[in-house]
Amino acid sequence: MTQNPTRQETSARDRAAWQRHGTTEVAALDIGSLPSACHALPDRRALLFPAESDRWFTHGELAERGARTASWLRINGLRPGARVLLCGHNSSALVLAYLALLGAGATVVLANPAYTTAELRHLVTDSQAEWAFAAQPATDRLRGLDLRIVSLDEPLPEAARGKPEADAHEPALLAYTSGTTGAPKGVPLTHGNLLASIRAAMLAWRWSEDDVLVHSLPLSHQHGLGGVHATLLAGSSAVILPDFDAAKLTEAMRGHHATVLFAVPAIYERLIADAPQALTTPTLRLAVSGSAPLSPELANRLAQVMGVPPLERYGSTESGLDVSNPIDGPRIPGTVGLPLPGVELRIADESGDDAPEGEILLRGPQVFTGYWNRPEATREAFHPGGWFRTGDLGRLDPETGYLRITGRKKELIITGGFNVYPREVELVLEKHPDVVAAAVAGLPSARWGEQVTAWVVTTGAADFDDVLAHCRRLLAPYKCPKQVFAVDSLPRSGMGKLRRSALVPPEHQTR
Ligand code: AMP
Repeated sequence: MTQNPTRQETSARDRAAWQRHGTTEVAALDIGSLPSACHALPDRRALLFPAESDRWFTHGELAERGARTASWLRINGLRPGARVLLCGHNSSALVLAYLALLGAGATVVLANPAYTTAELRHLVTDSQAEWAFAAQPATDRLRGLDLRIVSLDEPLPEAARGKPEADAHEPALLAYTSGTTGAPKGVPLTHGNLLASIRAAMLAWRWSEDDVLVHSLPLSHQHGLGGVHATLLAGSSAVILPDFDAAKLTEAMRGHHATVLFAVPAIYERLIADAPQALTTPTLRLAVSGSAPLSPELANRLAQVMGVPPLERYGSTESGLDVSNPIDGPRIPGTVGLPLPGVELRIADESGDDAPEGEILLRGPQVFTGYWNRPEATREAFHPGGWFRTGDLGRLDPETGYLRITGRKKELIITGGFNVYPREVELVLEKHPDVVAAAVAGLPSARWGEQVTAWVVTTGAADFDDVLAHCRRLLAPYKCPKQVFAVDSLPRSGMGKLRRSALVPPEHQTR
């Protein structure tokens, strides 16, 4: 085990960061269970699903109906701790089923509704799920597996309300990581982990019962679900859209006087191009960006429209919400800000010793304790002392203490023996006035081992010689792309994350 010589100093820095977010009171962040922590303002508006109806669910109704379905589940043999797959698009049935499962003490296995039969089978087998709540077409894809299926396309079954059974220390969620490499791994998150994550953000972002979130992110991902958690805990309200549509999002934001927006950079890109009115909704006080890097160019363009750039934050499935630009302090484009209340952060080299630049390590009540049934992966994921190795690379700005993410370890390109981190090259490409978005990866090369290659979306008028000359002005020769492909759009996941495995030369594209 390596000792961390500056541990004391690190803690002082983290505490100072929490202070800048407005609190150092972090002891109670992970207390309770999600059902028990929901706000006691039963008559207030909680959720609206405009694609289904114009009737609001109140907080009381959500709690009551969730508890009644939880009773039905227990009567019908669901045991606390059982894994239950939850697979559907954003809908009231999805949220009610989620609350019922948590109330019954089950562990919810989140599944993206776009998953194929093979992907769903992996989740069911790996998690040993016994039940599934699913909407079509996932319901059909799940048939043939040894599961009890409850349809989200019909009213949920209910029975007389009983006592909630959720235990704060038990896993509430088994979330599977996006799995850009290898099969997705299960991440068990306790009620305490989820509460600590969202409460820290709510404190820092001054979330109140008067907030109105307009939300189009998938609730099958942590980022989307966080918006529901905050709403239920604060007793505030949220308008949940089935998916992202710039016009519908704008209409909902303006019509419902949105105060908060959660989005990913790809959504901000679309809003600024197609619906800048959404971003100038007069009541909007907080626009959050996360899940993928927000380029400084996009942040600056957004700041021209909104007055300030979105509040960029950083987190992961394993560690929840961890770092955010401060709501009242300066927002520095290209950085993700300061550790949220309760989060300890340091930068380390391979052996776990503090380093000025290296892997981002996190510790705190929001961080998971190990992968589901994967002892080897768990051992590799932590340094001694419970420090989670994020796999992300970064450095802390010496003056402001803000975290700058510089890349991901696994994306490293080794070209002619030199290390190149794609993000560094992407940032340079995105500075070129004709480049709208860029992705960089290594392609096999007989000469270089791997060859730095770029895929770029341009304004239409791009002169590639000029783009390459721009790179050569700002980057060492070995970092400059050897080849540039023009594409209409970059391959992205539903959460706006770049799918690097889909970056292939145009002649290898399968669709
Ligand atoms: P997920 O587990 O799907 O939430 O993905 C987590 C990963 O998304 C992190 O480890 C980062 O690589 C990336 N990520 C999240 N937020 C940001 C951000 N603001 N900037 C850059 N990368 C981010």
